[in-house]
Formats: sequence, C-alpha cells, structure tokens
Amino acid sequence: MFDALIQFVRDEYQSDEFIPLHAPVFRGREREYVLETIDSTFVSSVGAFVDRFENQVAQYTGSARAVATVNGTAALHVALRLVGVQPGDLVISQPLTFVATCNAISYLGAEPVFIDVDRATLGLSPRALDNWLEEHAFVDDDGLCRSRADNKIVRACVPMHTFGHPVEIERLVEVCRRWGVALVEDAAESLGSLYRQRHTGTFGAVGTLSFNGNKIITTGGGGMILADGALGARAKHLTTTAKQPHPYEYVHDEVGYNYRLPNLNAALGCAQMEQLEQFVQDKRALASRYEAMLKGGSLQFVREPEGARSNYWLNAVICQDRAERDALLKATNDRGVMTRPIWRLMNQLPAFAHCRHGDLSIAQWLDDRVVNLPSSPTGMQA
Ligand SMILES: *Cc1c(COP(=O)(O)O)cnc(C)c1O
Repeated sequence: MFDALIQFVRDEYQSDEFIPLHAPVFRGREREYVLETIDSTFVSSVGAFVDRFENQVAQYTGSARAVATVNGTAALHVALRLVGVQPGDLVISQPLTFVATCNAISYLGAEPVFIDVDRATLGLSPRALDNWLEEHAFVDDDGLCRSRADNKIVRACVPMHTFGHPVEIERLVEVCRRWGVALVEDAAESLGSLYRQRHTGTFGAVGTLSFNGNKIITTGGGGMILADGALGARAKHLTTTAKQPHPYEYVHDEVGYNYRLPNLNAALGCAQMEQLEQFVQDKRALASRYEAMLKGGSLQFVREPEGARSNYWLNAVICQDRAERDALLKATNDRGVMTRPIWRLMNQLPAFAHCRHGDLSIAQWLDDRVVNLPSSPTGMQA
C-alpha cells in the first residue's frame, strides 16, 4: 500500500535515504553574509543585517513595519501585548495550531478559547466565530466584547494560516471589527502566501512570522512582528528591553523583553529572503505534482483555498478515515519517508483542556484524517 506515493517522493528528492518533512535549503549567499558578521565581530544585538532583514520582509509583505525577534513565539507574545491582552482576558484561537499560539496567550495570563476551523482552509471559521460570539458574548457600553458567563473581556482573536493556506481573513476582519475584538494573525507558516493578492499577516492589527528551521525560510531561530508604523515602533521598543535611545545612558522606561534577533541570525535571513520567491514557486510546483499523482486515489490532496495563493509550506492529504491515516503514517515512516499527523488538538493538551470552546467537529474530523507529506523545495538540491 502507498508504494506509488513512496516511490513518487523518492523520485522527487532523488534519494534512497531518509526523507524529512521539511529541510532548509541554503543555495544563496548564506555563507558569505554569516562570515561577514563574524569578520566584523557584529554577531549579536547590534549590526546592519537586522535592519536589512526587517526592510526586506516589510517590502516583500507590504507591511509598514517589520520587527525581528528571537523566534515566532516571542513575536506572538509581544503582538498580543501590543493589542492590550491582559491577565484574565479571553483570546480566541483555533484548536488546530502549533502550541506556540496558545503558549503566547498563556504568557500574558490570558486564556485561549477554541473555535472550530473550516474544512476548506483548515483555519479559523468566521461563521463559527460569529456564532460563538452571538451565543456567548456581548459588547458593553465601552465597546468591549465580554463573555456573558463571567464578564471576562474577549480581547483578541488569533487565526492561524495552517500549513501556509490562508484563512478567510477578510471575513474574520469583518467579524472581529463588529465585535470589537483585536485581530492578530499567526502567519508563522504562511510567508509567501497571499489572500486576494495581499500578504497574510497584514490584515490584522498585528501579524507574526517564524523563521524556525522547518519553516519556508530560516534564520536558525527567529520571528517577525508585522504592524503599522506606530505599533511597529512600540514593538521595537518592547523587544529591545524598552531602552530609551541614548548614546551612552541606560534608561529603560518599562518592563521590556530581550527578544531582538541577533545579527548573526539576521544575516542568514537576508540570504534566505533573496530566494524566498523561488522557494514558493518550487513548492507550488511540487504541490501540483503531488495533486496530479494522487488524483483518482483514496487520498484527497489539500488544495489552496479559493482566492488565495498558498506557499504550500507543508503539503497535506485527507485520508478516508483514521485507519487509513494510521496505515499511511506507518507505511511511509517505516520506509524512511517522513510523514506526520496534525498536532494534537490544543483543547486536548493538559495545559488547555480546561479552556472553553465551541463545537469542534471539523477539527476532530481533520484530526482523524490529515497527514503531512515531505515538502522541502525540490528543484534546488545541491
Ligand atoms: C512555527 C510556528 C510558530 C512559532 O514558532 P517558533 O518556533 O517560536 O518560531 C507559531 N505558530 C505556528 C502555527 C507555527 O507553526
């Protein structure tokens, strides 16, 4: 079973060895830029590559400002602070996400609320969100969205663009605006993905990216906050220990974070950004070959949603049932082709099992069926 698929993957990567889910590709000026930081001694919190990397990402995404951070989780943490999340607040997200989204909510003493995803996008459903708010929330005289049950403020909503496929972000913007809930986009997986020609991560008040080793581009570890000029300036201040600019005095005007991306990592990022569009094209071409190969079989290939351009960060299939999913995972991993199921749903993790949630039947349905396939860029192996 699944012999044809395994052979297809081996042919794509021209390898008889272990094939990972996603490996970084360094075919540009990575070595040159990284050596430049070493030769100059500017490897740490000061150096030109950080500014350059931030400008490259701002330009590529069309964001007014981009602020680099040590990782995507740190970017989310600060993004949520920027929109005013406080202890005791409720923050809506989806059960189908990486744990970082919910960890960041918890760091601020807030509590995630899980709302179901859509089958077509794998991301937060604007209809399910609106329905949940209709049933469980009200807008008070100050325009704050509050839980009917205990008056807690529903401060923010964090949809995630799963595997690079954009959610219905314009509808989510509309629902959040109507309810007075701040929108923060977890675009960690969707650098290079567009919704109606506009880059994911630029629709909400704040967006965040990740450059972890398994993402479409990497800085080793790293992240980015996307925001407008004013929030961007605030993000820079908070992520650099809230230090007031001064030639030699050290004055910090509030509790900040040491979340700045080191210049060494930013150097890698600059070289990776130069190849990003090529990675996206390569991954989109691989996705269409997967789709053609799987056509007519029992595994249903997950396509980009209507009106969106996905970066196809991770290719995915939907199996007929949990038994087929388990058989696919076993057959491929036994033979050195790495595949994996989706993350354990957030509402099932010990840290978040007590959190409130809406009906999660689509997320549960996907949990029984989704498998990710090897997705590294193929056309650029050394
Ligand atoms: C990768 C990722 C993050 C951030 O992860 P870091 O490892 O902290 O950079 C956040 N959310 C999602 C959905 C991710 O996939």
